[in-house]
Amino acid sequence: MIVAEQKPLAEIAESIKDAKKVLVVGCGGCVTVCLSGGQKEVDILATSLRILRKKDGKPIDTATETLERQCDKEYVDKLAEKVQAAECVVSLACGVGVQYLAERYPDKVIIPAQNTKFIGGTTEHGIWEERCALCGECILARTGGICPIIRCSKSILNGPCGGSQGGKCEVNPDTPCAWTLIYEQLKRQGREAALGEIFPVKDWSKSRDGGPRKYVREDVLL
Ligand code: SF4
Ligand code: SF4
Repeated sequence: MIVAEQKPLAEIAESIKDAKKVLVVGCGGCVTVCLSGGQKEVDILATSLRILRKKDGKPIDTATETLERQCDKEYVDKLAEKVQAAECVVSLACGVGVQYLAERYPDKVIIPAQNTKFIGGTTEHGIWEERCALCGECILARTGGICPIIRCSKSILNGPCGGSQGGKCEVNPDTPCAWTLIYEQLKRQGREAALGEIFPVKDWSKSRDGGPRKYVREDVLL
């Protein structure tokens, strides 16, 4: 899932300082799972903004809504009336949701309330870790399901780098060396020989270096 972290309240408040009617919109997808942008966070943010503005002697009205997903036009369309009634919209979705609102409602100022961080997952309650860099050409089949591009600090493909000590990364001793993990996993599976196969230079044109990407499924086009 996409992991996002809410911006500081002061930063969000500064972005809406001239508005008197604000719509706060959450998303029921990834940001709900990572506890940063679901219905609960929408209610807390709207209340906090109201309290702050009341304290400053410039009270505001807030309306709230949490869409099933903000990265889906069908749901974004449903906001039309509430967006119309607001002076500006604060989005608690990831950057995609913010951009979908901005595209659909170009006359409104859409404010991001989150810093979108990475694609990752929960490792413990309240801890999320990055797991994929969206490289566009997945090599996990050859690395025991452990991604060296994101989990090796240097994104080395034919590692390890030589700085690994005691199974930890030299860049951060709290981080396991990705290539130690890969070795242990392949050994567990009796596939250590795979380490002898050299990865060629990676084709980064399939990643962000190739510009904005598009995925088309001809079979489901309407
Ligand atoms: S190899 Fe690429 S697609 Fe696969 S997990 Fe790593 S970054 Fe993501
Ligand atoms: S110690 Fe391991 S994880 Fe860290 S940079 Fe070197 S190869 Fe990558």
